[in-house]
Amino acid sequence: MSVVYMDHNATTPTDPRVVEAMLPYFGERYGNPSSPYELSQVTRRAVEGARETVAASMGCSPREIVFTSGGTESDNMALKGVAFANLERPGHIVTTRIEHHAVLQTATYLRDRFGLDVTLVGVDETGRVDPADVEGACRGDTILVSVMLANNEVGTVQPVREIAAIARKRGIIVHTDAVQAIGKLPMDVGELGVDLLSMSSHKIYGPKGVGFLYVRRGVSFDPRSHGGSHEWSVRAGTENVPGIVGLAKALELAVGGMPQESVRLNGLTARLEKGILESIPHVSINGHPTERLPGTLNVSLHYVEGESVVLALDMEGIAVSTGSACTTDSAEPSHVLSAMGVPANVAQGSVRFGLGRSTTQAEVDRVLDVLPGAVERLRAISPLHHRKG
Ligand SMILES: *Cc1c(COP(=O)(O)O)cnc(C)c1O
Repeated sequence: MSVVYMDHNATTPTDPRVVEAMLPYFGERYGNPSSPYELSQVTRRAVEGARETVAASMGCSPREIVFTSGGTESDNMALKGVAFANLERPGHIVTTRIEHHAVLQTATYLRDRFGLDVTLVGVDETGRVDPADVEGACRGDTILVSVMLANNEVGTVQPVREIAAIARKRGIIVHTDAVQAIGKLPMDVGELGVDLLSMSSHKIYGPKGVGFLYVRRGVSFDPRSHGGSHEWSVRAGTENVPGIVGLAKALELAVGGMPQESVRLNGLTARLEKGILESIPHVSINGHPTERLPGTLNVSLHYVEGESVVLALDMEGIAVSTGSACTTDSAEPSHVLSAMGVPANVAQGSVRFGLGRSTTQAEVDRVLDVLPGAVERLRAISPLHHRKG
């Protein structure tokens, strides 16, 4: 039996067309893009061609794209790049309670080690940041506002355009983690009004270990690594040529297929949500009812542990998760759900379904066949369930 993979927010399978595009760069096209001879100019053209593809789909200039090792590095680079360019007067960063740990932990590090001040703005019960709260948090010494475009655990889409307008009016640099949103929502950095934007290839059917950071021209920015003049001297080091080629191919495919694919995923997600609500008592949906990523469904199954549901589904060949893949070994309830005011005991029972390109209606129906029985069995042995009386 093949696996029903419903954890596309954690990662995606690499599209065979992406693998095909990458293969020559593991083989005969091995030249160092910085060398002068033709063998190397082939790979230089591949990297710069990929940069142009990326820039065209983001609405920016190729000069504004810096290839990185993925979303985590892009987030680190964004926050540290701005913070380290301003170290004479360590300023203030505004971000939110629901960011990915790559942003939250970097902000904490900058606070603890470099004396920056950090304000974490909260969210409402749907996981939305109120732009007025961001405005209220901004001060005279605020150097950066970082708000994610869409949340990886609950899929809520943030009003980044409004937030960026507020910050830009005050001359504050704006970063957005767009890792979950790219390929699922239309994207144009000019229209969004952000200065920095993070992307990861493996969330959009590209290879792992590659991503990019958009850095708007004119933003004062400290380099991430020193050495050669690669990536506009912001990130020295010989380019990951196959990865960069794969990233561009994956982005091209995702953006091209987006209009139809988002309609299809919204339909499948609605079917899954309706099926769960109709067949299982005591459930609640986490996230915004409409301003949500196509394909993301986070459900709290009250009186059970999310972990147990994940294991029960795994035995049926269904792969889902309890939330962020990066924190599954922690016993703490999700920081995103707690920020949304979900009580800890309800948050413990949350499961995230991440539907994607491979997901079919038959797979959704298979989950709906298996899940109610699994939850019922777990509740029958759950002390939490008995205590409700
Ligand atoms: C996956 C993810 C990241 C980290 O990206 P990596 O390429 O895995 O390092 C950052 N932010 C969000 C919102 C993500 O979903």
